[in-house]
Amino acid sequence: QPAPWAAVLQDEEVLREAAAVAVDAALLEGVLMRTEGFPNTSDVVNYAPFTLLPSVVPSALFEQAYAVQQDFNLLVDAISQNKEFVEQTLASTVKVDDFTAQLFRIHMQVLEEGLAQSVFLGINRSDYMFDCGMDGIPALKQIEINTIAASFGGLTSRTVAVHGRVLKVLGKFEEASRLLPNNPSKGLALGIAKAWELYGSPSAVVMFLVEEVQRNIFDQRCIENELWNRNIRVIRKRFRDVFEKGSLDDTRRLYIDGREVAVVYYREGYVPTNYDQQNWEARLLLERSRAVKCPDIATQLAGTKKVQQELSRPGILEMLLPGRAEAVARIRATFAGLYSLDMGEEGDKVVAAAIADPDRFVLKPQREGGGNNLYGEELRQALEKIRDSPERTAYILMDKIKPQPAINYLLRAHSPLQASECISELGIFGVYVRRGKEMVMNRAAGHLLRTKAIEHADGGVAAGVAVLDTPYLV
Ligand code: ADP
Ligand code: MG
Repeated sequence: QPAPWAAVLQDEEVLREAAAVAVDAALLEGVLMRTEGFPNTSDVVNYAPFTLLPSVVPSALFEQAYAVQQDFNLLVDAISQNKEFVEQTLASTVKVDDFTAQLFRIHMQVLEEGLAQSVFLGINRSDYMFDCGMDGIPALKQIEINTIAASFGGLTSRTVAVHGRVLKVLGKFEEASRLLPNNPSKGLALGIAKAWELYGSPSAVVMFLVEEVQRNIFDQRCIENELWNRNIRVIRKRFRDVFEKGSLDDTRRLYIDGREVAVVYYREGYVPTNYDQQNWEARLLLERSRAVKCPDIATQLAGTKKVQQELSRPGILEMLLPGRAEAVARIRATFAGLYSLDMGEEGDKVVAAAIADPDRFVLKPQREGGGNNLYGEELRQALEKIRDSPERTAYILMDKIKPQPAINYLLRAHSPLQASECISELGIFGVYVRRGKEMVMNRAAGHLLRTKAIEHADGGVAAGVAVLDTPYLV
């Protein structure tokens, strides 16, 4: 379905004016990023890349994505508490993937010692594309669920205002008024605040565990602000700071700089390059502590691609969510084809099918952050090299989703204004808080639409490929 502003796009002059307004509106609203050249100071900032126009999203699929989010929250939480399932599922992966193996070792070590943590906070983002089937009817298909450091909830809370302004400049007042309000910063902060409150130590702080290179700091600041507004102190520390100054008392309360930490919110720690030996020690210290980790290490493991693939096996969802047939059905409806490459006959068949028709699939390692997957000819060559080796079990295979492209303009600092054929990925933020066995909060907390030019098979906003967008429901 074409956007109601399609006709306006013919007029270059109008577009240029709209783009100039859009960029200034983004700066005014705080859709900001530090620059590549100066990633650790705010002396120089720029706007985060975004689309000139909202993108059309079928409202039925948008609603479907919201409707399944609480189910996904329950599912992730259930996986994180199921030691046997996590252990069995990752058994083949940890033999060949050192990073997953290291996370898994910490997971086992903290379970063996016994958890000091009794309040649990999950912040995730379930990402989807709209698969255009043979019949031309788009279907909601999950790409992945991010259970650690799911980002852009802050900045995207401010893009609706920008796109609303652009539509008005284009004379589309009625369309501007139909853009949905969206405020993940607030939703995520409510979860963090709830966990902080249940931790039960009013003088304790929330610690954002942040990267060495902090280009995306404004996205995090949006959430920080919401916490300060609720009179909760926020500190920002790196793994290195925790290694040097973090400690546990004899009840495993976590202290840093003389302050007790109630909640550790990771915005780091999901890729191998985040860790050296000291950082792994810091991670272990945090995991052993009583502080609420968002996520705890079990929940991080629940977000691996290998777990995602196992969930699609018959009976697994039913086992993890007993007595919740409707939730299971809603979740399963969003699954694309997912295939294990474990050694054996089943895996051999999958490998052969992928080599024969590589454009039907995506090959995924256990990595996050974009730019790691293999497609097409690269996929075929990689699989041919490892087809008979256990190395292949570091990957999973997934059906490739093929969305219908649409024209948009990707606004990036220092880039020319030009039309691109684009596809979008919709993410729904989920937040939940559990105390012991009791779910205290379980909700969807807003959405994120990211759009990229079709020539890029892979990659998110931080990877420099996708840009922030706003859905326009039809
Ligand atoms: P990451 O953890 O690196 O974000 P994803 O599974 O989200 O891994 O894949 C990265 C990107 O690759 C996605 O944002 C999407 O653009 C593309 N992608 C991933 N899986 C598929 C798929 N099954 N079909 C089409 N594109 C995909
Ligand atoms: Mg992703």
